[in-house]
Amino acid sequence: MGIQGHVEKANLYYTPKSQKLAIAWAGHNRFEMQDVLRGFSRAMYSNWLWHRPLQLLVDAGEGLQLALGTKVFSPSVVAITHGHSDHVMGLPGLIASRRFGKGAVDKPLTIYYPEHSRGVRAVRELLGIAFEGVVFPLTWTAVAPGATLPLGKTRTLHAFEVRHSATEPALGYKVIETRRRLKPEFAALPQAEIESRARDGRRDDLLEDVAHITFAHSGDAMPIDPALVMGADLLVHDATFLSEPDRREPIHATTEEALDVARAAGVKTLVLYHLSIRYDRATALPALRAQLAHSGFTGACWLLDESELIHLNGA
Ligand SMILES: [Zn+2]
Repeated sequence: MGIQGHVEKANLYYTPKSQKLAIAWAGHNRFEMQDVLRGFSRAMYSNWLWHRPLQLLVDAGEGLQLALGTKVFSPSVVAITHGHSDHVMGLPGLIASRRFGKGAVDKPLTIYYPEHSRGVRAVRELLGIAFEGVVFPLTWTAVAPGATLPLGKTRTLHAFEVRHSATEPALGYKVIETRRRLKPEFAALPQAEIESRARDGRRDDLLEDVAHITFAHSGDAMPIDPALVMGADLLVHDATFLSEPDRREPIHATTEEALDVARAAGVKTLVLYHLSIRYDRATALPALRAQLAHSGFTGACWLLDESELIHLNGA
């Protein structure tokens, strides 16, 4: 299957009508995961995440445009969680590639970022000086916690406040799509009866719209409120520390806290990111797998470590 086939398959999963495929996608398959997510995470160096079916970038750490390569023209939206340098220093490179590279140089790009972010303001000032007079269809939108933003035709992007830095406002994001499902009061009806009513033109009486979270990202954060991401298909959560005593300031989550958020929210797939580079991976990974086994979280669990997605379920 070519690249195009993969994209179509991944998009199918996120089509509101394709409930069946959404259920079948349990998040344990490496190739499916790589179809959906690409990213990089090295705490204090560079962090970004590309959600291909949603055409959404979360954060823009350094090296982003090199990793995207010819896909540099794909993103329509970049959602910045906060203005720390390891999350925004890739913006100049991304924007330069979009402006001067070979491709859809006039494709609009929208950057959402937390209002009052000093780090983002610094990058904007740099770009303003470097690209003075250059016309580029670039929109900067300052976002307040609680804001609902457009994301394509069928989805919205919601920003929520998270606890991170004392000097930089920080947001998490979630993508909500409206799905149609059978009203619970008809759940006991035989399939033949449901089909017959639908054929009689009573389809709309049978169905109701429900909001579904397809994707959520905590950004750098202390553990988020599970109520914010209830039932999400995919949650990316800060997981900087393997143990609580390693944390000196209340600005990042531990791996166990992230697992607990995922368990309490009943998410299907959890991706941990931002694991501190203080931990030797040869000992950290078995420790993390043991934590997962004891966490009560039964979904699929991955660690994004640099550009690698490491499956943590099983051995
Ligand atoms: Zn940070």
